[in-house]
Amino acid sequence: MKRVGLLTSGGDAPGMNAAIRAVTRAAIYNGLEVIGFRRGYEGLLDGDVIPLSISSVGGIILRGGTMLRTARSDRFKKPEGIREGLRRLKEFDIDALVVIGGDGSFHGAYELHKLGFPVVGIPGTIDNDMAGTDCTIGFDTACNTALDCIEKLRDTASSHERLFIVEVMGRNAGFLALEAAVAAGAEFVLVPEIPFEMDTLCQKLHYAHERGKTHSLIIIAEGVMPAADLQSKLKDTGGYDARIIVLGHIQRGGNPSSFDAVLASRLGGGAIDALIRGDYGTMVGRISGKIVASPIQVAWEQKKDLDEDMLRLVDILGI
Ligand code: ATP
Repeated sequence: MKRVGLLTSGGDAPGMNAAIRAVTRAAIYNGLEVIGFRRGYEGLLDGDVIPLSISSVGGIILRGGTMLRTARSDRFKKPEGIREGLRRLKEFDIDALVVIGGDGSFHGAYELHKLGFPVVGIPGTIDNDMAGTDCTIGFDTACNTALDCIEKLRDTASSHERLFIVEVMGRNAGFLALEAAVAAGAEFVLVPEIPFEMDTLCQKLHYAHERGKTHSLIIIAEGVMPAADLQSKLKDTGGYDARIIVLGHIQRGGNPSSFDAVLASRLGGGAIDALIRGDYGTMVGRISGKIVASPIQVAWEQKKDLDEDMLRLVDILGI
């Protein structure tokens, strides 16, 4: 193996740059060349390449976003797209590909692997919804960003004795909502994995009010329903007048936390180690503190469950 390709794909996540730097430098340290593809699989199909060197990845470790840019590519989802991607990889003399992204991006890498091309995935998504790693790159930073916003809201919520609904990202997974809810001391958290009843929520709000609570915070993951829908349901069912805040893309931006910068550096180094060992068709993750390579399909075939103790804790501590 002489030359490694590298791309970032799907939604961007803080720490992707740190992973790009780590992959590039670990590869060069081991005598390999690195070629970056811009804009994920779109750039692969277009042959949009940039050679990566020790210096070209300098000064990016703590910068948000991804210097390789990222994209979603419908072309690549089709069998002709995969074949064209493979042709491009051969055209640029790439011997192995490292893909930084979420489980969708790993599906794409898996298709290349099935055609016999060596791939390794690095989990980068703020959703943390991938098995094979305790934490994905970007999750910690996104939680901290959400927390910063929520903390400011709490000041207003308590001063004005208001009910606030904060919508955080998470179409299918409530990891971000739950983490932010515990850290911010929210009274309620609504996640896509667990159904809830409006009547029960209103009852809990009522009891909280009776116990003397003057303000409350509900954190809702976007996949449950839009915050505006919850706002009108609360009005209709319980007569509550809630304010809403949708955090949106702000959660994906910003410089990575030290946790994410370290995680990304370790996984970047781990991806090159996996390639050198010949552990193809794998994803690298950090499990109980160790860097582990697992079959890439683990990311979507195994389900990562929400911690039910954490969910209970929101109820207990939000008393
Ligand atoms: P995030 O979790 O941030 O959304 P993701 O990697 O899951 O990141 P997706 O939009 O699901 O984001 O996937 C990114 C890209 O991966 C897609 O645009 C497509 O190019 C490729 N991809 C996804 N699924 C497949 C598939 N089944 N076959 C081939 N390529 C795929």
